Formats: sequence, structure tokens, C-alpha cells
Amino acid sequence: MTENENIELAELLFGEEELKTREEYEEMYPYRKLGNKSEVTRLAPSPTGFMHLGNLYSALADERIAHTKEGVFFLRIEDTDAKRKVEGAVELVIDSLKYFGIEFDEGEGLGQGSGIYGPYTQSERKEIYHTFAKELVEKGLAYPCFCEEDELEAIRKEQEEKKELTGYYGRYAVWREKSLDEIKEAISMGKPYVLRLRSQGSPDKEFTFKDEIKGEVNLPENIHDVVILKKDGIPTYHFAHAVDDHLMRTTLVLRGGEWLASVPTHVELFNALGFKLPKYAHTAHMMKIDPETGGKRKLSKRSDPEMSLSFYREEGYHPHCIKIYLMTLLNSNFEEWHRNNPEALPEEFPFSVKKMNNSGALFDMDKLESICKDELSMLDEGAVYEFIENWAKEFAPEKHAVYFADKEKMLSVLRLCMGVGQKRRRKDLINAKQALEFVSIFFESPGDGEDEFKQTPEDVKAILEDYLSRFDYEDDNQVWFEKIKEIAQNNGFATDRKVYKENPGNFKGETSDVAEVVRIAITGRANTPDLWSIIHIIGEEEMKERLSAKI
Ligand code: GLU
Repeated sequence: MTENENIELAELLFGEEELKTREEYEEMYPYRKLGNKSEVTRLAPSPTGFMHLGNLYSALADERIAHTKEGVFFLRIEDTDAKRKVEGAVELVIDSLKYFGIEFDEGEGLGQGSGIYGPYTQSERKEIYHTFAKELVEKGLAYPCFCEEDELEAIRKEQEEKKELTGYYGRYAVWREKSLDEIKEAISMGKPYVLRLRSQGSPDKEFTFKDEIKGEVNLPENIHDVVILKKDGIPTYHFAHAVDDHLMRTTLVLRGGEWLASVPTHVELFNALGFKLPKYAHTAHMMKIDPETGGKRKLSKRSDPEMSLSFYREEGYHPHCIKIYLMTLLNSNFEEWHRNNPEALPEEFPFSVKKMNNSGALFDMDKLESICKDELSMLDEGAVYEFIENWAKEFAPEKHAVYFADKEKMLSVLRLCMGVGQKRRRKDLINAKQALEFVSIFFESPGDGEDEFKQTPEDVKAILEDYLSRFDYEDDNQVWFEKIKEIAQNNGFATDRKVYKENPGNFKGETSDVAEVVRIAITGRANTPDLWSIIHIIGEEEMKERLSAKI
């Protein structure tokens, strides 16, 4: 087609729309005035109603990259795929980011003052895309394609049979060389069409692409006449990405590694549109060790509950712990930094894209739990109280009513369980759900799943009766323990460890075995924080009731 015909075609396709010009948009969305090291990053989720760990991983990286150097981090909702759109999904995205403490400066969900680069939801930007699509048609770089599904299917079949690259390109791109008259005729028949890029790439050329995480990669030029506007005039991801990240003045596109293969298309689109290419950082996929095979595999939405962000909320993981864990996955030197600066906020860490994991971030639940234990043990009991209480209110209302009825009691429980005031803090608590389980012995008589006594029923009975007869609530910890020793002595247990080790056959056990009987009888557990303290939290009456039930 001639230049004039291209212009005529553009008019034919878009003439009825009132579109702004490219210049107007360039002016509306000016370049941002930021330092030359500052980056503009964005999270661009599709509202599918599911937020996964990978989303949070990217969001945290985006947020850190922007905020470490006074840049901007914004949220864009990519809802061009109507089939995947789910009611309430946008709220879920915003709410999840908020819960995990990831703050964005601009974008969807901030309401008034959300920023001047909006709208930040793609479905509200149709006319912007059309301005740029029209321009491509005018330049002969895009054309309508009226192929129906079955025609495309036939092309694909033929290519498969001939073992050729599948797709709409070169001689297979049947509408690429049609005349204006043929196109006019199809339009007049009311045939639906998509708009395709007229690719200028050549099949045997490669180019070198520099990824901020992966380094230099050689990629083939794009040769596909990819769809840029779908039949309903809604752009594809590729086209919306180019237009939006250009006009929103994104400087660094951080996204899942699955998009690396689309880079040739994006490079061609940016060139065709006359846009400067942003920097790209393609992140590694989240991996885990498969418990069955022992091999590494991708974390999957379907079979791994820990992939979903709602899992961490429902189990009551403290968002700060998740953040610390993700930071260790994101930057290889974070862990050491954090060890050396345990009190410093993760925001103080000098985050670097260059240090990002290139080979698949390995998700490890044990590691996460150990981070949780460390981090929770650094909080004071008030902070832990508030966190567990909020969780219980939402996820365990029945327990909440019982456990949190007496604030002072719960605070002393937490103080004890966390070892507050002791030389070394205890590290027993992992998440709110497990913490409630852990402190349950203070609020409920031991129920199912108790640890078993290791002594004979006769000895258990004798020990407990002896214990009850000597018990005095006023005894301090030391006196109380002396009495345990006396009970040991009376019942054939050794009170001196050395003596016991030399002649174990002469004794039924030693003092610690006696203490264990009392401990299990009162708490149902062989391992607990200090037993004397437990007794002084649950009270004499409750202790006696529990013991009597065992005799
Ligand atoms: N909407 C795309 C996705 O959810 C975003 C990719 C990108 O960040 O550009 O995969």
C-alpha cells in the first residue's frame, strides 16, 4: 500500500473515534523530574483474584529499587483479558500489598491524588492505545487481519506438518499484503478483525539484549505479526506494555522470567512506536524442593498452598517475617547484612538489582520458619500480643474469646513463652496459629495429642500424689524444685546426675524424669517453658484440677 493508502486505512479504522494526538499525550505525561540514579518501577498484576508469592517477590523488589534511590513505584492493573477478570480482585491486590507493608506512590487504589500518569487501569485507557495504533497504521506498521479461528488453525496445522515455526508471519501472514480495496470490502461486510503489527524483523538475525538480572542474552529478532488490538479494540499485553510503560515513564520493567521470550516483540514495538526502550529485569522463578522426588521444581499455584499469599495470612505469618524472608531470596547479601544489623529495618539495606537471584529463587519453608522464630523473638510482648490478637479475632474467634479475655494474663504468658527478661530469649513462636497452639496450655486443660508418660502408671500416681501433698503455692521456684528432688528421692529416682550416670540400673530415673511427669500431667507436654511459672499463671486451683484428673 502507498503512504496515502495507509493514511486512508487509518482513517477508515479509527476515523470515527475522537482521539488525541501523540503529542498531546507526550505533553500530558511529561518525563519525570528525578535524579539520574532514580528508577521508576511498577507492579502490573492482572486481576485474577489470586495473589501469589511471585507477585509479592516482584512487588518488594520494585518497591525497594524505587525507594532506595528516591524513585517512584506505581501500581497498574492489567485487565485487558476480560476472561480472567474476577470481581474484587483489584481490592485483593491492594489489600495484600498493604498487609505485607509494600507501599506504592502512585496508581490504582490511592483514590484522589493517585498520580498524573493515569488512568492506572488498562481498560480505562482504550483511546490512548488507539491513538498509537492508528499512528502505526498510518506509517504502514500495522494492518487489520480478518482471519477467523479456523483459518489460523489451518495455518498452524500446515506449519506443524512442515515442521516450521508456528505463528502468523511472512508468507503465512495472509492479510499482510492485501490491498486497500480488499480490506475495504471485508470491513463493509462487517467482518471482525484484529490489528496486527507489520513486523520488520528478519528470521535469521539476532540481537544482544542486556537484562538487568540475567546479563547479556542473544535473542532472535521478532518476525511475528503479533496482534496489538484484539477484535474488541482492547490491546494485547504486548501493545499495552509498550504504550503504558512509555507514557507512565517507567525506567525499569521488572517482571517474571516467562516474559523474556517476548522481549523481541517488545523491542520491535518500542522501535515502531518511536519509544525509548526501558531497562528490563526478568526475575527468576520461585522453586522448591519437591518432598516426593527430592528434586527442584517450580512452585505451582495448583499443588503448593504456600504459593498463595492468602496462605500466609490464614496461617498468621507476621508480614515483617515474610518481608525479611523475601529479602533474603531477593538479594544474596541481605542475610549477612541483617545478621550484622539485626535492629535495622529492611528498608535501610542497600538493595541492588545486580545482586538479584538469577537462577531460580529456592523457597524453603524451614528457612522461613527459622526467620520467623528469630524475628518474633526480637519483638516485645506487646507487639506480639497485638499481632496474635488481631489474627485470632479474624481466624480463630472462639479461641480469641477465651485467650484474650484477660489481657494481663496473656501478656504474662507471652512474656514467659518468649523468655522476655531472660538472658536469652526463647525462639518458640513461628506464626499466630502456632503461637495460639503453643500457649493453649494456659487456657485449656490438655486435650488430645498429649505427650505420653514415660514412667509406669503406678509411679506416675505415686509421684503426683506426693507432689500434691507437698505443694505450696507460696513456694518460690527454688523451694518448689527442692520438693521435686525430695519426691525423686522418696520414689527411687536419683537426685545426683553423676551418681545416676554411673549406676543407672540402681534407679528408676533421675529428678528430671520426675519433673517431666509433673509437667506432662499439668500441661500435656514434655517440653514447655518454666513449669513453676506456668503454674503461677494458670493458678493453684487449675493446676490441682488438672493433676487430680490424672490420678
Ligand atoms: N500483567 C502481567 C502479568 O501479570 C504483567 C507483566 C509485567 O509486569 O509487565 O504477568
